[in-house]
Amino acid sequence: MTTGPYQAYVYSYPHKTAYRPLDPRPSLREVWAGEDTRALFLYLHVPFCEMRCGFCNLFTRTGAPEELTGAYLDALERQAAAVCDAVGDATFATAAFGGGTPTYFTAAELERLCDIAGRFADLRSVPLGVETSPATATPDRLAVLAERGTTRISIGVQSFVDAEARAAVRPQKRAEVETALGNIRAAAIPVLNIDLIYGIAGQTPASWRYSLDAALAWRPEEIYLYPLYVRPLTGLGKIGREWDDQRLELYRAGRDHLLEAGYEQVSMRMFRLPGSAGGTEYCCQTDGMVGLGCGARSYTSDLHYSFEYAVGAGQVRAIIDDYVRAEDFTTARVGFRLDAAERRRRHLLQSLLQADGLDRGLYRARFGTDPLDDFPEGLKPFADRGWLAETPDLLRLTPEGLAHSDAIGPALFSAEVRALMDAYEAR
Ligand code: SF4
Repeated sequence: MTTGPYQAYVYSYPHKTAYRPLDPRPSLREVWAGEDTRALFLYLHVPFCEMRCGFCNLFTRTGAPEELTGAYLDALERQAAAVCDAVGDATFATAAFGGGTPTYFTAAELERLCDIAGRFADLRSVPLGVETSPATATPDRLAVLAERGTTRISIGVQSFVDAEARAAVRPQKRAEVETALGNIRAAAIPVLNIDLIYGIAGQTPASWRYSLDAALAWRPEEIYLYPLYVRPLTGLGKIGREWDDQRLELYRAGRDHLLEAGYEQVSMRMFRLPGSAGGTEYCCQTDGMVGLGCGARSYTSDLHYSFEYAVGAGQVRAIIDDYVRAEDFTTARVGFRLDAAERRRRHLLQSLLQADGLDRGLYRARFGTDPLDDFPEGLKPFADRGWLAETPDLLRLTPEGLAHSDAIGPALFSAEVRALMDAYEAR
């Protein structure tokens, strides 16, 4: 492995760029028939934001007028009816509204969103996470979310230094951020997560520490530290050849600072106050996900599927327009079928990139084999570098291994998934 530490953030496997049109499109009833639906994840995707951050490679559009947000909720209702019919009496262990920025919706629209989610699960009895932004974390919206059962709110701050926020094309003011954080705390939602970014042009160890301390002043239950990534279709250009070194240095400083402040490390990005994990029965390695909305993925044991995917503004708009006009939500449109080998690989990736590591007993119980036998070539380079610790019970990344999660994850993709992703990127 000769590449740098920042290849890609593996938040799911396979990535959506490996999905392809399903032909014929299977009906959702077929797709969900026979699945274990006792502990699913319900995800509603809201593809709207006030502005496009320069670092963003998510599926979202800006400046959506009220007619469009209303039409989007109408479409979500139609989709929910079809999906409810397909998943039958499924039980949901956890739920989330993500984006985009779900709080781009008004308070009244958020009520509708909760009603739609409430068709699947009693939101007050499962953990419910919602993403928000400094400009939209207003008391009226937060009151709705708190009243409807939100247990976790995640806010993208990125930097508490105004000039850095501007450099990352997220031109918010510190005062607005502090007001939003005050609003969230006043709403008494149990878990506050603050997202910060390192590797911004002009950011220094001192200014990074300043942002970390400004976040810590709120004693958030969770903090995510994201390395800045710039993708071809997003707005920022190159910011210097020492970028990898800058990011690694800031990562280590941030990690150490949060550990000293009493946080535990959950993954390369995630840090949490001990005892603040929102208990859920959901297990991301094995349990399925029901996604609603045009950017959401759904997972069964052997099929991952979604609507079409894009990042470029024109295509995103076209896909959202298609979605709001759609009447038939009874089939899966694009996706990826996981065979037995891909299921093993997914389990490996979903476990190994967590600080707790991979439980070999669980893996053996699920697949009848040991991960070191299944992936000898894939894992050896990391073991050789001292990035992988092995015990009879666990495979776990060392601190330096965790620091290189964004290189380790992509290196473990299958050749087939890599080829599909490369073909997508080359379009
Ligand atoms: S980073 Fe988040 S808030 Fe910014 S444009 Fe992307 S989805 Fe919206």
